[in-house]
This record gives sequence, structure tokens and C-alpha cells, in this order.
Amino acid sequence: MKHIAKVVELVESKKDDYIALANDIWSLAEMRYAEFESAERHASAIEAAGFTVTRGVAGMPTAFMAQAGRGGPVIGFLGEYDALAGLNQESGATACRPAADAANGNGHGCGHHLLGTASHLAAVVARDYFAAHGIEATVRFYGCPAEEAAAGKTFMARAGLFDDLDVALCWHPSVANSVFMNATLANVQAYFRFHGKASHAALAPHLGRSALDAAELMNIGVNYLREHMPDQARVHFAYINSGGISTNVVPAHAETLYTIRARTSPEAIDLFERVKQIAEGAALMTGTRVEMVFDKACSNVLHNDTLDAVLDRNMHAIGGMNVTANEVAFATEIQKTINPDDLANASRHFAAALRDPRPIIPEILPYRPDVERPVTGSTDVGDVSWAAPTTQCLTACYAWGTGFHSWQMVSQGKLSLAHKGMLLAAKTLAATGIDLVGQPATLRAAREELHRKRGLKPYQCPIPGDVTPPPARAAGTPAARASQDVIA
Ligand SMILES: [Zn+2]
Repeated sequence: MKHIAKVVELVESKKDDYIALANDIWSLAEMRYAEFESAERHASAIEAAGFTVTRGVAGMPTAFMAQAGRGGPVIGFLGEYDALAGLNQESGATACRPAADAANGNGHGCGHHLLGTASHLAAVVARDYFAAHGIEATVRFYGCPAEEAAAGKTFMARAGLFDDLDVALCWHPSVANSVFMNATLANVQAYFRFHGKASHAALAPHLGRSALDAAELMNIGVNYLREHMPDQARVHFAYINSGGISTNVVPAHAETLYTIRARTSPEAIDLFERVKQIAEGAALMTGTRVEMVFDKACSNVLHNDTLDAVLDRNMHAIGGMNVTANEVAFATEIQKTINPDDLANASRHFAAALRDPRPIIPEILPYRPDVERPVTGSTDVGDVSWAAPTTQCLTACYAWGTGFHSWQMVSQGKLSLAHKGMLLAAKTLAATGIDLVGQPATLRAAREELHRKRGLKPYQCPIPGDVTPPPARAAGTPAARASQDVIA
């Protein structure tokens, strides 16, 4: 582990520029597929650091690939930079209030400003290390847009951009430091648009065919489906168009968005087919017509125990974080704003459950591959993990118990603890990548583990080949429709 000291020194020597980059991206707070400025800040910075950048990959203007080095193993670092709608929040506040000088109404409620920046820094440090030691290796940084309610990496995986990686390294900002041990759910997301016939609701109700009735019957049908779904499957929906605000007009158009989650992509796709049949049934019952518009899908994460063990060793060698009394005091204040049930729920997400949670958990939690993986939401890192051996870590950027996609998470995103977690992630990812380049047998074992778990089949993208990434759209507007499939 003699590379650890050098990695720590390199990250510390560069940290000021990267903290500034993360803060800039926090302030830009750009939404999925529209992260033009955030992506460009990353791309131009890594270009200036000597990487060759290919912009606009996989049909997405805000996706890019940066590469440096030559020959040897190919090590990929995954970065994200999209924000969430409706989460504009004053930095460092212990109450929910918008920032007066915000660029828009969005906020970094999932820490992707830190996520992209640490992975970017790790790629630069790994490249520097290989160059300084004359080691043959190829380093890539992937600028991955649209993770939130989207699937940028799934489109990138479908384009084969991860296929030649020996290892993919990623992380996520969190409330504790550990190897990422969660099971994630595969998902499929689609719009259901019902078309009926408008008429006067009192003068000619018999001539109307209500699209809103159809949407409601579809939701009722799906409620009956829920009893007969596989374990851990979930189906959520939202109204995109409820047919207008006039009760005296039979609604001619109504639209819902459905997200279907399950343990694996085949399970999610099976469930999606049943939801489509329910939509057809609702259209049949109401004399309307339904169009299904496929939006996105992602796979569950395929854990690679071989790589996770290497990441764990490197993370422990780097060690936990030193926190200050001020950071603990602020975390204590933030915790007072979190509902006790939500605070208690935080432990459920960690395989190494904590009995005595404190305001900040600075140490590295033990790696527990022997316990059942707690189930969490979905991530498009899942698709990368089916294409190439992948490992991820979590770091404590926020007070223990802080909920994802909350104002509390946005508020803490530019504070010193967030930066410490980001730098720990950069050190862990760089050290793991460097360690693995020196261990060809481990890289081979990781590849064999992927093949064994995948069943020797190539990665199959859950997004159909004719569905293209949506064009960039204004924050908060309904998704642009990329592809249409009329099913009834
Ligand atoms: Zn996230």
C-alpha cells in the first residue's frame, strides 16, 4: 500500500481548484440533459489537465469522455453533475429557505456536484501517478449526465462506451464512509397518453369519451396488480396531464408517467408488460386510445466482490475523516430538523448498522459482504456494472440521517464536511485504481466474477434500440418525448 501516501499528497495539493469546481456546479444547479455549463466546466478543466476530451457522446450533448495515458489496463472513473428541480436552498442554513441569488429553482439535493468532482480529481491523480512512475495504464473520466429520473449512463452503456474497461470506479455522497453494499432496483419508466373525445359534460355526455377516466382506471388496475408483484417490486405514477380544469368538458387528453422497479431488468420488463396490458384494458373500457412512450430504464447494480474488497482495503488504508467541533455543532442543528423516523431509517441503508449514530460518522464502516444487502432505489451505475467490473464507495459528506433529495442535503453541499467527504472519495477511487493496475490477477478475477454473475451473456441494455435520449429541455417541464409506441 505504498501508493497511499502519494495519492493523499496529490489530492491535497490539488484540492483548492476542485473544491471551487464543486462549489461552482452547486451554484449552477442544472437539470438532467441540460447540464451544459456544468459538463463544460468539467470537460474544459480535464482538457486543461492534459486529457483528450470527446464531447457529446452517446447522442447526449452533455455527455463526454476524457482519456489520458496509453496501453495497460483501462481504468474508468464515473462522474455526474445533474441537480434536482424545486430544491433551491440557501447554503449553510438550518431552515428550509431558498437562496436569494440562485440561478434557478433547482438544487443539488443528491450531491452530484461532489460526485462528478471527486471522480474527475481521482482520474487526474491516477494519471499523474502513472506518469510519475512510468506505469502503462489508460485513465478515463466519463462525464455522465442525467442520472436523476433519467438514465444517461444506460444510453452510454448501450453505445458500448464501458465495454473495454478493466474496472469502473464510482462513489456517492452519503452520511457514512463505506464500500457501497446496497442492492439497487432495476427500473423502466414510460408515459401513458390517453386520447378520448371532448364533449359538453351536461349537454352531450353520451358523445364524450373521457381520457381522464381511462387514466384513472389504469391506476385502479395497477393497484390490483400490486398484490401480485414479485418481492421488492414497486410501481409509482404521477399525473402529467389530468385533462384540464373544466368539470363541464369531457377530457379528451390525459397522461400519466409510470416508474416500474424490480430486482432485475427482466423482472422489471415483465412487470412493465403487465402494466401496458392494464393500460390497454383501460382504453378498451372507456372507448379511448392509449399511446405508450418509453422514457428510460436502468439495470440493478451487479456487485463485484473481488473489486469491493480492494476498494475496502484502500479506503481503510486512507482512514476516516477528522471533523471539527463546528462541523459537529452544525450537524447537530441539522439533525434537529430531521423527523425521528427519517433519522432512524438512515441505519437501514447500511449493512454495517450503527447502534449509536452520532451527528457525523467520520470512521470507515466495516465491509460486510456476508450480510444481506439493504435495498435502496435505482441508479444507472447499474448498467455500467453489467458492462464492466464496477466498484463504488460512499463517504460522509452530510450529517447522519440527512435524507437524499432534501433541502438539508442542498444546504450542506458547500460546507467543509461535504468537501472532506469529496476528497476522501477522490483518494479512495484513485488509490483503488492505482492498486488494481498493479494486480493483473485481481483484474482477471474481477472480469471472471462479472462473467460468472452475468452468465457469459453480453450486457443487454433495457432501453430499446429505437429510443433516443430526450433532447435538452427547460427545468421542470414534462419530458420531451423521444419515441412513441402506440399500443392501443
Ligand atoms: Zn444521486
